[in-house]
Amino acid sequence: MEGERVPLRILFVEDNPDDVELVRLELRRSGLDVVYARVETPEALREALEESRWDLVLSDFSMPRFSGPEALAMVQESGLDIPFIIISGAIGEEFAVESLKAGAEDFLVKSRLHRLVPAIERGLREAEERRSRRRVEESLRENEQMLVQSQKMEAIGRLAGGVAHDFNNLLTVIRGHAEMLLGEIPEPGHEDLLEIVRAAERGATLTRQLLSFGRRQTEEARVVRVRDVVDDTRRMIERLLMENIEIVVTHSADSGWVRVDPGQIEQVLMNLGVNAGDAMPEGGRLEIETGMVGDAVFLRVTDTGIGMTPEVRDRAFEPFFTTKVEGRGTGLGLAIVYGIVQQNHGEITVETSPEAGTTFRIVLPAVEPDEAATEEPPTPRPVASRTATVLVVEDEHGVRSLTCRVLAGHGYTVLDAESGIDALQVAIQHAGALDLLLTDVVLPGMSGSELARRIHETRPHVAILFMSGHHDDPSVRRRIMAQEAGFLPKPFTSRQLLES
Ligand code: ADP
Ligand code: MG
Repeated sequence: MEGERVPLRILFVEDNPDDVELVRLELRRSGLDVVYARVETPEALREALEESRWDLVLSDFSMPRFSGPEALAMVQESGLDIPFIIISGAIGEEFAVESLKAGAEDFLVKSRLHRLVPAIERGLREAEERRSRRRVEESLRENEQMLVQSQKMEAIGRLAGGVAHDFNNLLTVIRGHAEMLLGEIPEPGHEDLLEIVRAAERGATLTRQLLSFGRRQTEEARVVRVRDVVDDTRRMIERLLMENIEIVVTHSADSGWVRVDPGQIEQVLMNLGVNAGDAMPEGGRLEIETGMVGDAVFLRVTDTGIGMTPEVRDRAFEPFFTTKVEGRGTGLGLAIVYGIVQQNHGEITVETSPEAGTTFRIVLPAVEPDEAATEEPPTPRPVASRTATVLVVEDEHGVRSLTCRVLAGHGYTVLDAESGIDALQVAIQHAGALDLLLTDVVLPGMSGSELARRIHETRPHVAILFMSGHHDDPSVRRRIMAQEAGFLPKPFTSRQLLES
């Protein structure tokens, strides 16, 4: 400890100033630089502990109005982790043992002060070790909280993945039939049908939101400029918010490019926007700002609303945590935002206090804009001729009959089957040409990808188009990537179907 420049801060609990002087001389002889204070009553000790920071307490054992063990208890109660050494005039062994058991660092006798410096050094070292252990434990606890969060999100993702398949089928049927009717019934009824189509679209957005938890959504990451996505989303946010909320968008000149699914940024903005609106029932200002920090792009969303207490802030990103009345909040908005930011290797922080508004700040790694050119996903185009024969394989009756109707209505020859086995049968029995296999990925029995492989064994020139609510089947993904097959995400519109 020699040569250390920061003086050691020692608090003496001692009634006799001469004894303090004695100890100080001993410490100086060892080269220890010391600042100190002396107290001899409980009140003075309490005050000293509250007012300053101490590295060490050196306490007498017995004093007229105080004792070493009492002082030790007080230091421990204060919650401060300060090494405590008792220096006694004359002791009995039993007191020494008692004190050490109670948590004193050491117990020395005034006549043998040569042990003091080593005892102090050990005490300080051990206190430092305890501090660093606490720091490690704290960061472990934080990690654990993050793990719990990500497990919750994964569970929701899995749940959503299960439901999304059926739900997307239903949406395809609803939207498809509504669109077909649009072409068949006279004008006056169109507005109602369009409402149905729009509702189905909102449903599809909702599934997409839920799927983004489990990273099961169709990934459409592209290189985009954050400010462009913000500008494109602005109208939607305006429509969501009341008129008494002023929306201010600012971009600093150099706001940059990121690789994301722009739909996800849109979702982030919508969720933050809706929350801001909820926080400003009497009106206020919503500011959205984009710009660069180092080699990252930032997106800042600020409102002048009610803000959050520290308790709410700490739980705000937790799935299903909401302070809103039932029917108003799901508690998923910020959890989804958090998931999206994580997925894109970004960070999100929040600054808020009651009545002082809230600022969310998102940082995403920037990429070079010229990567954009190479980022366009390849679009496989299996079949174009409208005299072609298509085999539609789909277990969901509604989707199958709709798909067949649309295709037949546009001149295709359509065969259909409700399972892979069925489809193979149909393919064998069909004497003419077969140009396209349009198959669901998830089928009872044989999967769509297995079916495609079997069909190719006898008819190698059949084009393959998979349709699915999520294309997380690895073999399907591989074929799509290799351009051996096309992919039609469900729910799809008649137009998307015909263009695929
Ligand atoms: P929900 O909006 O459905 O309650 P969120 O996950 O979007 O769920 O938000 C969780 C909670 O965080 C909200 O219920 C609210 O208490 C708090 N919160 C989120 N955004 C804001 C904001 N801009 N201002 C004040 N509180 C907010
Ligand atoms: Mg919300």
